[in-house]
Amino acid sequence: MNELSAGHTRLDSYVDRYAARTQGMTASEIRALFAVASRPEVVSLAGGMPNISGLPLDVVGEAIGDLIRDHGPVALQYGSGQGDPRLREQITDVMRLEGIEAHPDDVVVTVGSQQAVDLVTRIFCDPGDVVICEAPSYVGALGVFKSFQCDVVHAEMDADGLVPEALRQAIVATKAAGKTIKFLYTIPNFHNPAGVTLSLPRRREILDICREHDILVLEDNPYGLLGFDAEPMRALRADEAEGVIYLGSFSKTFSPGMRVGWALAPHAVREKLVLAQESATLCPPAFSQMAVSTYLTSHDWQGQIKQMIEMYRDRRDAMMEALEDFLPASCTWNTPSGGFFVWVGLPPGIDAKAMLPRAVTARVAYVPGTAFFADGFGAGSMRLSFCYPTPERIREGVRRLAGVLEAEMEL
Ligand code: PMP
Repeated sequence: MNELSAGHTRLDSYVDRYAARTQGMTASEIRALFAVASRPEVVSLAGGMPNISGLPLDVVGEAIGDLIRDHGPVALQYGSGQGDPRLREQITDVMRLEGIEAHPDDVVVTVGSQQAVDLVTRIFCDPGDVVICEAPSYVGALGVFKSFQCDVVHAEMDADGLVPEALRQAIVATKAAGKTIKFLYTIPNFHNPAGVTLSLPRRREILDICREHDILVLEDNPYGLLGFDAEPMRALRADEAEGVIYLGSFSKTFSPGMRVGWALAPHAVREKLVLAQESATLCPPAFSQMAVSTYLTSHDWQGQIKQMIEMYRDRRDAMMEALEDFLPASCTWNTPSGGFFVWVGLPPGIDAKAMLPRAVTARVAYVPGTAFFADGFGAGSMRLSFCYPTPERIREGVRRLAGVLEAEMEL
């Protein structure tokens, strides 16, 4: 028995053989929930699945048919490790909407932005290196950091996003403890799970702090084009080319099933990312990339995004109204100006994780706040998503949740 087996039950007879890094790989709280939450009688405010019901499937189907007929031998073949050149060119047009001027040579296509988080961590992080993350942070990124045995240090957010002073303190304290910080992982727009957006003045401040301390920024921006009230915010990468690696995705603006995302990186980093991509997958799927590329040329994708925004805005409004109407007065929440999520603070003494089975019995599901912290914090909060259910179901889900909370407060 090696030290790995110490914390495990012996149900897995391979336990002595796994690499030490697998210790950090645990099923996310969200995954365990999916089975229950997908039962039709449960209103799931848990998962963050994009709502693709508005996609014109006939248009997509026709474009994909044309793609196979006209370019099948390329689309069904291996491609380049860096990704399809035409798509990389189109990606630079997408990023221009957020003020980014980039060369297609500096774009690496990935299997969703999830793989981009993995590749960036793979090329930068040794075990014990520190990644600074917002508190709370995206569960899928925390999973990657754990799987590479990184230490996550959280820095506080408020209604305007990451608090610059909290970032500065986290950097100073981590350095004083003799640890190496590899990068700041941040989701500036319509944060998953917190729902907040980094204000414009803070964007400059965060960049200045990172430059002053020589810390790379990993800017993860899958929701940036899904703002409800205004034009897209200026990306961090728009004002800082050398110190920022920017991640984008077509999962929320087109289709998560395509699994196409990207990283825009400084030149040298881009070369390392391509090597890492080649060893991970040889190349991202040519078919998916060409399907996305064809969709972008054959369809009014910006018009489509406008429709998505309207749908998500209606759902956000339904969520806000229901929270106001039903939740106990001692709960707190923010009003997201885009994206999929709202973060709810619970009355003192209530543990969202402990309450979850009772919520599921009452046919409503959410994700407990602890899923979004590397250090066990977050028990007094939960993430609610408004992207998938209809406005009526959202209202019903929040009504059920309020009933569960009230019963909990009487316990
Ligand atoms: N980053 C964030 C913040 C996300 O919310 C998600 C998806 N939930 C991802 C990255 C990964 O998305 P994808 O791999 O589909 O691009």
